[in-house]
Amino acid sequence: MANNNSFKNGGVKTKSISSSSSSYSSGYKSKPSVTSGGRRSSTGSTGNSAGALHKDTPGVSGRVRVAVRLRPRNTEEQSTDADFADCVEVQPELKRLKLRRNNWDSDTFEFDEVLTEFASQKRVYEVVAKPVVESVLDGYNGTVMAYGQTGTGKTYTLGRLGDEDTSARGIMVRAMEDIFAEISPESDSISVSYLQLYMETIQDLLDPTNDNLSIMEDPKSGDISLPGATLIEVRDQPSFVELLRLGEAHRFAANTKLNTESSRSHAILMVHVKKCVKERDGENGGKAHMSRTMKAPVVRKGKLIVVDLAGSERIDKSGSEGHTLEEAKSINLSLSALGKCINALAENSSHVPVRDSKLTRLLRDSFGGTARTSLVITIGPSPRHRGETSSTIMFGQRAMKVENMLKIKEEFDYKSLARKLDVQLESLIAEHEREQKAYQDEVQKIRLDAKKQMSDAEKSYKDAFEKERLKYQRESMESIKKLEVQLAANQEKQGDKRVKVGFKDEGVRSSTNAELIEAKKLLQNEILLRKAAEEEISNLRNQVVQWKRSEATGNAEISKLRKMLEDEVHHREKLEEEISMLQNQLLQLSFDADETRKQLEIGHGVDMSGEMGSLVSPVRQQQMAYSGEQKGSVAKLFEQVGLQKILSLLEAEDPDVRIHAVKVIANLAAEATNQEKIVEAGGLTSLLSLLTTSEDENIHRVAAGAIANLAMNETNQELIMSQGGISLLAMTAENADDPQTLRMVAGAIANLCGNDKLQLMLRAEGGIKALLGMVRCRHPDVLAQVARGIANFAKCESRASTQGIKTGKSLLIEDGALPWIVKNANNEASPIRRHVELALCHMAQHEVNAKDMISGGALWELVKISRDCSREDIRILARRTLSSSPTFQLELKRLRLNTG
Ligand code: ADP
Ligand code: MG
Repeated sequence: MANNNSFKNGGVKTKSISSSSSSYSSGYKSKPSVTSGGRRSSTGSTGNSAGALHKDTPGVSGRVRVAVRLRPRNTEEQSTDADFADCVEVQPELKRLKLRRNNWDSDTFEFDEVLTEFASQKRVYEVVAKPVVESVLDGYNGTVMAYGQTGTGKTYTLGRLGDEDTSARGIMVRAMEDIFAEISPESDSISVSYLQLYMETIQDLLDPTNDNLSIMEDPKSGDISLPGATLIEVRDQPSFVELLRLGEAHRFAANTKLNTESSRSHAILMVHVKKCVKERDGENGGKAHMSRTMKAPVVRKGKLIVVDLAGSERIDKSGSEGHTLEEAKSINLSLSALGKCINALAENSSHVPVRDSKLTRLLRDSFGGTARTSLVITIGPSPRHRGETSSTIMFGQRAMKVENMLKIKEEFDYKSLARKLDVQLESLIAEHEREQKAYQDEVQKIRLDAKKQMSDAEKSYKDAFEKERLKYQRESMESIKKLEVQLAANQEKQGDKRVKVGFKDEGVRSSTNAELIEAKKLLQNEILLRKAAEEEISNLRNQVVQWKRSEATGNAEISKLRKMLEDEVHHREKLEEEISMLQNQLLQLSFDADETRKQLEIGHGVDMSGEMGSLVSPVRQQQMAYSGEQKGSVAKLFEQVGLQKILSLLEAEDPDVRIHAVKVIANLAAEATNQEKIVEAGGLTSLLSLLTTSEDENIHRVAAGAIANLAMNETNQELIMSQGGISLLAMTAENADDPQTLRMVAGAIANLCGNDKLQLMLRAEGGIKALLGMVRCRHPDVLAQVARGIANFAKCESRASTQGIKTGKSLLIEDGALPWIVKNANNEASPIRRHVELALCHMAQHEVNAKDMISGGALWELVKISRDCSREDIRILARRTLSSSPTFQLELKRLRLNTG
């Protein structure tokens, strides 16, 4: 037993999974003298002893273990062989077995274990099968096989159920007991198949209808499986024993049917063990929990095969036992193939004929090679079977040379990890729900408690209040009672006095009574009067107090007003000072402005970036030319003085102040940012009214300039129109002689001409006539503004015609503008010429104007423009206009003129 313990404690249990075959034996006690070769020795050669199955060395770690078991003499042998010695002699302590050749000579064989006829089933299990079972639990494949002549105890060794006598339990039952002891039912699983192999046919002992199972081999892993075989998951020992019993019954029935004996077939039990590895070696405690929950569990899959082989005795090939030769061959095929494979393996031959039989194919991944293998050879003692015994021993000896290369079968079980995580998640969710519920309950409880406490407090407060109230009521009642008693006592005293008086003068009592009543009445009257007087006095006193009070406030008010008056005076003085200072500044500024303007008044370029380009006010250009310094000072002034004040200066009595104020406004109006403010503050109205109210032409000029600036903005254009601006401007134009005044007025009207919405009104109120009237002054600046106004008007008109808003002849033609236009188409001053050219192009685009234009001589001008204009865009426009008009084309044809 000591050996077993040493195996168990130091062996498989603690081995590392990373190295397979060498680690398997690392716990075995080493016996350096033993080598894998030469286990057979002739008589007397006992020195070369092999290691025990449980006591091995690293050098032979993977070898097939072979134990020999001797069956005790049976009853028959006891009588028949009574006079003969056994053919074998066992030396278990030396692990040797001597096979007698004759009375004086014997061969000695060494085995991994020699089990005498007295060896218990328990011991047999422990030395033969237990190491294999433990390997299987560690994820290796393992095989336990019994080989021997029929009747030598193979089935006894492997398959006894031990129903009546538990000590008789065989290897199958004990192996399963050990497996069950080592696994945990929640994570691990065991499933079992039970088969019979007879005449190269595999039958399912758990389901007899499956009587020809095929073997599958995984080409990659080399794993062997029987896809058709019944695989039953067993959960406990009794159900396993039940399965074995069932298998036995089926085996018996099958053999009866086939008219054969169980000794002719191989019984194969397959146990698949899937075992979860709890903790990997070397993982330290802290992280172990983490890795267990986060990593897929490692699953080790082991397969234990227990094979109760057919009897090893040679089948009589003569057919004397009722078998044909073919049958005999077939019966023995698997067993002889096993022998051949073992020989090949033992001799390290390059070819192992595994494919020769079903048995060898089935054992391919479980015998030798990558599996842990134990072979028990069973022999009987009878000298009559010496030959069979000898061949059995030789089989065992050869098997001992077969090396194993153990291979662990380990894989990650992601499915089970997922299941586990699912379960964990579920439980966490449940836990969370529980906690939430508890939390809500707690909150509810606290809420109820608080409510209760509040109502309690309310109640106790009410009680206390009621108590207090009752107490005071009681006290007041008592004091009332006391007062009543006192009153009674007082009345009694008075009664006594009255009685005394009565006794003195009885005769005058009644008259005295009347007097008394009278006196009482008088007294009451007196009392009332006195009370009224007192009230009066207190009233008067109050009044006096009030008067005194209001006098004081009045005085304070007066002094305050006086102070305010002084402040106002002071403030006014300051303002007056400021005004005179500002007036000085204004004078200076407008002087500067005039100077600068004079310097800057140069020609007025027209921005014509496109054929319909915008026309910019000349006044604006002029203002834009102002130096930054001046603009800055005006803006500063604007800020300091405030717009309202400047506007108010437009009505100042001093004409100089007035003119300077207009100039400042005009300057401010040049800035788009100020325009809105000026209009909002009523500046536009003031400027327009200046055109009528003032006689001063200077004021007219500057005001018109300011209006022209404001007229750049569409909203302001409408305001100017609605306030009668055109008539005012027309009137101013009529009366003015100064070209600059006319230029400003023309500029303002020209801006208004560019508003599509105001076309009709502008014309109706004499805007075009006013423009044409101003050409009397031949100053090119004035003419340029007139031309700009006409071009603007023509452009808007053309747009309206194109959109179908306007029909009929151009209003410019109606108002007689054409002659001036034709005349000025060749004006030397380019701003005038350009605008006129544009106006002509716009007008010519509409057929309705064509006839008038031809008769007015405009066609000639258009032709010239289309040929000679230095501005390419205008040239192209004129050419296109000419070619698209049928009337013009006709006329040109008539005149034989070519426009191209
Ligand atoms: P096999 O399966 O090899 O044909 P069995 O296991 O059927 O042989 O054994 C034949 C007989 O010998 C059975 O009656 C069995 O009880 C008996 N027997 C075998 N081995 C022993 C043993 N070690 N001790 C006692 N009886 C045994
Ligand atoms: Mg048997």
